[in-house]
Amino acid sequence: MDIRSLSAGRIREGLAAREFSAVEIATEALRLAEAGNPRTNAYLSFSPERALAAARAVDEKLARGEDPGPLAGVPVAVKDVILTKGLRTTCGSKLLENYIPPYDATAVIRLEQAGGVILGKTNCDEFAMGSSNENSAFGPVRNPVAPDRVPGGSSGGSAAAVADGTAVVALGSDTGGSIRQPASFCGVVGVTPTYGRVSRYGLTAFASSLDHIGPFARSVRDAAVLLGVIAGRDPRDATSAFAPVPDYAAELDGKVQGMRLGLPREYFEGLAGETAQLVMRGVDTLKRLGCQVREVSMPATRYAIACYYVICTAEASSNLARYDGVRYTARSPRSETLQDMYRNTRGEGFGTECKRRIMLGTYVLSAGYYDAYYLKAQKVRGLVARDFARAFEEVDALVAPVSPFPAFELGEKVDDPLAMYLSDIYTITGSLAGVPCMSVPCGATAAGLPVGMQILTRHFDESGMFRLAHAFEQAAT
Ligand code: GLN
Repeated sequence: MDIRSLSAGRIREGLAAREFSAVEIATEALRLAEAGNPRTNAYLSFSPERALAAARAVDEKLARGEDPGPLAGVPVAVKDVILTKGLRTTCGSKLLENYIPPYDATAVIRLEQAGGVILGKTNCDEFAMGSSNENSAFGPVRNPVAPDRVPGGSSGGSAAAVADGTAVVALGSDTGGSIRQPASFCGVVGVTPTYGRVSRYGLTAFASSLDHIGPFARSVRDAAVLLGVIAGRDPRDATSAFAPVPDYAAELDGKVQGMRLGLPREYFEGLAGETAQLVMRGVDTLKRLGCQVREVSMPATRYAIACYYVICTAEASSNLARYDGVRYTARSPRSETLQDMYRNTRGEGFGTECKRRIMLGTYVLSAGYYDAYYLKAQKVRGLVARDFARAFEEVDALVAPVSPFPAFELGEKVDDPLAMYLSDIYTITGSLAGVPCMSVPCGATAAGLPVGMQILTRHFDESGMFRLAHAFEQAAT
């Protein structure tokens, strides 16, 4: 049994036919994950006891003839910004190096109730701020496809775990592209659901109005299964939506012929090279499947990066104020006064990118600049959302690139934060508008670097997005 090629569905079948047990799968997945970690650095912690207990529970349910759930025995990796009770959760930060959460995130509870087996926690940029995983206090992740390159960020560890085959699916978080961009760089499927579709309870806040939890998988079907498990109203998150959760996996095989697709002109203007070719080849495949393709215009796109970096830093400066050495974090030992203690704890604990964002966010929220920056950015966010609303009057889905380039080399962009911010130029708009969006692999460059194609649909139309992505995946492979 090679667990690197197993899907959630195949695991279910194999368990039902008693080809293997959940404990056998968990043991093998843990072995592979731990053996591969010196190479990728994808995991920050492993949870063998929890994994084997969950697997044993699945085997016992099967033995009793009960339904073990849609994720029965499926090895899952969880990004280390998502809280796991009793299991270290670092957020990629030195400040939380020894933090043990007292409760589980709702998404974690739901995936374990569905039979999922959590192998461990995955590496990420500190507090999910970054596009390459190089902002982790615990060292970068290496892209399993090309070890001298980044896996993308900030959910780089989750993308790498799934691409490497140690986990069948994983949870990531996306604020401006952190699921779609690493999925594209590592050649896996990554989904950012509608804002509010998945509870944020237990997701460490970076920019609360933009934060999403979402799935990574090696197939659209597995991503749909995982989203179906974690989605839905949660009384613990007031922004979680009441909208009923469809059976995404059951709706995958619907018709895509006649679907109206829009290519946003502004997303293709600067796009060049092999990425452009591969995405356009993907569009041709969709045409062959009977979709009608037209160009649409989304004029506010050019302001999106500036708008995003005002809003996300403003929210981050407020959310990160809690790491003050009093409550969760390590405390600097060399302080005489309370002020010094705050200053030293935060000064020694936060990495450069977090400090940059706290300063920027504090500045744009300050009395003198609030109107000029923060309020202006909120208005621009409204324009971005209006672009989407208008486009979706004409088309059922938008198709776009995920990133302007494939995985870049480790170290290539670390000294140029603005160049790094451009990695997310095509993903940030969907996050600002809160629409569902995903990356689905559409091929690889001559050098073998994966490239993803982005699909975006109307709020709560994850079913339409999955259906299109699934049809594409079947046609392209
Ligand atoms: N790369 C973007 C940033 O640095 C997006 C991060 C994210 O989605 N968490 O903010």
